[in-house]
Order: sequence, then structure tokens, then C-alpha cells
Amino acid sequence: PAAAPLPPFEHSYAGLPGHFYAEIPPTPVPEPYLLRLNRELADELDLDADWLASPDGVAMLAGNRLPETARPIAMAYAGHQFGNFVPSLGDGRAILLGEVIDRHGRRRDLQLKGSGRTPFSRSGDGRAVLGPVLREYILGEAMHGLGIPTTRALGMVATGEPVFRERPEPGAILTRVAASHIRVGTFEYFARRGDTDSVRTLADYLIQRHYPELADGDDAYTELLAAVAAQQGALIARWLLVGFIHGVMNTDNMALSGETIDYGPCAFMDAYDPNQVYSSIDRFGRYAYGQQPSIGLWNLTQLANCLLPLLDADMDTAKTKARSALDAYGKAFEPAYYGGLRAKIGLMDGTGTDTGADDELVTDLLGRMAQHRADFTNTFRLLSDASPEDPSTLEPIRSQFAEPSAFDDWAAQWRARLAKQDETDAERRARMRGLNPAYIPRNHRVQEVIESATDRGNLEPLERLLAVVSRPFEDHLELAEYRKPPAAHEVVHQTFC
Ligand code: AMP
Ligand code: MG
Ligand code: MG
Repeated sequence: PAAAPLPPFEHSYAGLPGHFYAEIPPTPVPEPYLLRLNRELADELDLDADWLASPDGVAMLAGNRLPETARPIAMAYAGHQFGNFVPSLGDGRAILLGEVIDRHGRRRDLQLKGSGRTPFSRSGDGRAVLGPVLREYILGEAMHGLGIPTTRALGMVATGEPVFRERPEPGAILTRVAASHIRVGTFEYFARRGDTDSVRTLADYLIQRHYPELADGDDAYTELLAAVAAQQGALIARWLLVGFIHGVMNTDNMALSGETIDYGPCAFMDAYDPNQVYSSIDRFGRYAYGQQPSIGLWNLTQLANCLLPLLDADMDTAKTKARSALDAYGKAFEPAYYGGLRAKIGLMDGTGTDTGADDELVTDLLGRMAQHRADFTNTFRLLSDASPEDPSTLEPIRSQFAEPSAFDDWAAQWRARLAKQDETDAERRARMRGLNPAYIPRNHRVQEVIESATDRGNLEPLERLLAVVSRPFEDHLELAEYRKPPAAHEVVHQTFC
């Protein structure tokens, strides 16, 4: 073990009963090479970035030599994958090193992903491929830049070892930082075994770690379910508002911390289409963009089923409680989504406004965008830069629509509605610019990063893409080409994990 100038890892999860995880060290890799260190995140975690970038630090990020205080474990979980229950999944290629307390006093997990086989690997090789590791790094930073709760990567290392998929690919390991790694599937693992004691232990741990304010309530487990549901409703609304498609919303990929987790074949959409799917493994569109709200509730219903024995000794009473707790999902989602949409077009709720009519206005816009394949990100960003009084500022928006006139009568209604607000155009625009990003990690740009890194070892495109997506509301005029949707030959139709 290395003596590291790091604060000691803590192990609250490893303090849970032994059947919650398997103790397993990472498998060493031949030639670790630091691809990128997230210095900003290292700083937030109060970790010494220079040490992390040193050979000893890289040895840790590669899983080759761990600090004395690490206690590597693979977590046990189950999950519904595309609707089918799998009683034993678990970390098949990820190893939790421990927890650190960040500068804000928050407990964060440090996990190596792609660090070798574990008792949960089944037929998998325990490894990760450079391309998906890059995607996870980029999308996590983009989500963070957008202000959406997310896991993030502290760094990524190349392993110097090929990983065999359809062809040999460069191997890589990502260090994932998460508020925790407890999933809906973690509850399902114990519930399906009829192990109510473990379900209770896990629920108590979850409350203590993420919902401490519920600990002393009269009905803490019902309140826990409601709190988790509300947080997921708010999270998925945020996804929709930026055009994010998770791609694999299996119950093992829904984190109960409320963070977006497990960036596999995920993507941000270009043209607005509620039926959009990029995930190469989502053959029936179960996790299409517009399906995400209902899938979120479906997943939470699986969680509710696990918690029933804790809610009440009488099953009917327990179910009634679960149903009312799950109502918190819609109650959080609806205002977050519709309120978010209204705000995206610059509307303020207030006296003399009709929220229902405002919702119709924005829904009407979305319908036209879908019909005319308007770019989601650019349409809203351009609206933020437009003055409805000045037709020349509307022209770039019109041209987002396959039939530009489809925008015109909507624009007239928008103009009339904005006139009811007592504010200057500049005030409205400033507000909108803080809500409507100029930059998302467009698929063709992510693909460009992956190809350039994989085929040529060139990480410059990565740096450029990170520069824009980590501060997505700024103009970055020198990198404005990153705002462009793909040309026909650049369109990426599928993403892979
Ligand atoms: P995911 O689709 O990333 O959520 O992964 C689903 C399950 O497959 C989890 O239990 C993973 O740990 C496991 N898994 C994915 N890839 C591998 C791999 N290369 N080796 C071992 N297990 C894996
Ligand atoms: Mg997963
Ligand atoms: Mg995954």
C-alpha cells in the first residue's frame, strides 16, 4: 500500500453487513497513463491534484496501488433491466475505494470503474473501453455545468491493455465520484430475497446519509419513499429541459441520492423529437426521450414494492401509503417540467398571467419543433437572444424549422404574451440565457473526441469540448462551431456503452 498525502478514506457503506458487498481489490493494469485529471473536482474534494497526477496518484486511479486506508468493495444489487428482473447484478466492473468528505462537508464515494473482475462480473471482463469512459467523463461534466445533479469523473487513465469487444479497443478506468451508489436495485436485491431486515438496514442507512431530516419522523420510510420520488421527479424534469436521454434507465441505474448516474449509451438530442432513441441496446424505445417521466415512476414503483414491509404490518395499509408517497413524483415533476419550459421561453408567472395558457403556448412550440425537426438547444438559446419586436433577430430561429413559417404565428403569440411582462428585453434575455445553454455535448462532437483519442491518441478535441460544455451558458465565441448541429454526414444515430 502507498502512503498517500490524502485524507484517509472513510467506509460507512463497508460498515454495513458483509452480504451488502464483496471485498475485492482492483486487478492491476500493465501501463497506466493519466488521460485527464479533473483538477477542479479534486479541489472540491480537498484532494491534492498534484499528487493525483504523480505516479503514485495514477497508480491509485489505475487500481495498481491503493492507499492504506482504502477498503475496496464491489456493491451487491439487483435490477430490472428493460423491464426484466435480474436478481443478482452488482458491481461487475466497479470497485468502491471508500468515501471522502468534500470541502462542503458532503460525503462522496470514490469508485474505480473498469478496474477488473469482481464476484458480480458474471461473463464480463470487468473492464471498460476508452470510448465510453470518455463519454461518461464528458457527459458528467456537461450535466454538472448545466447545474443538474450528477456523478462526476475525478479522472481517467488508460490501462495499456486491450479490451476485446467487437474488436480490440484501448482499455481505460474512470474514477467516479458519487454522492453514493445506492440504487433502486440495491433495495431490490434484498427485497427479492425476502430479507426485510436488510431492506430496513439499507433504508436506515439511506435516511442517515441523504435524508437525515426524516430520521425522527413518525413514518420515516413512507416519507423516505416520497422524498426519493420527489427528487427523481425533479431530476427527470431537468433532463427533459436540456434534451438529455439517459438511454438505460434500468432500476440498477437509478441512484437514490438523486444524482444522474451511469452514463452508458446516453445522449443529448439535436432535433427535438419525443421519440428519439440513441441507445444501441434500447431496441424498442423503452427509454426514448419522452418515455423518461413514466419510466421514472415505473422504477419508483419497484422501489415502493421493496419498501412495503417497512411501511405497515397490514399490506393494504402499506400499499395505500406507498401510493400516496409515489404521488410526490408527479407533484415534483409537473411543476418542475412545465415551470421550467415556461421559463425557457422567458415567461414569468405572476398576476395577470394564466399558467394554463402559458403551458399551451410552450407545448405548441414543442409540437412545431417536433414536426419541423428544430434543433432543441439552438431554438431555445436563439429565443434567449431574440427581441420579438425585431424581425431580424427572429430569422435565425425561423431557419431552425424545416418550414420556417411554422415559427411565425407562434412568434406573434409569444410577442403578445411577453408584452404583458413588466421588464426590459435585456432583463428577460439575461434570465433566459442562464436557463438555455448554448452548448451541449453533441453526439458528433463526442464521437469526434472518441475517434481522435482512440485512433490517434489526440486529446485536444476533448479539451475543447470540455471547455464549452463545462460552462455551457457562456458564449465561447472562439468555439462557436460547437453550437452547430451535425451536418447530414456527421449524424450519430447510435451510442454505445
Ligand atoms: P450497466 O448496463 O452499465 O448498468 O451494467 C449492468 C450490469 O452489468 C452491472 O452489474 C455491471 O456491473 C455489469 N457489467 C457491465 N459491463 C461489464 C463488464 N465489462 N464486466 C463485468 N460486468 C459488467
Ligand atoms: Mg449500471
Ligand atoms: Mg454502465
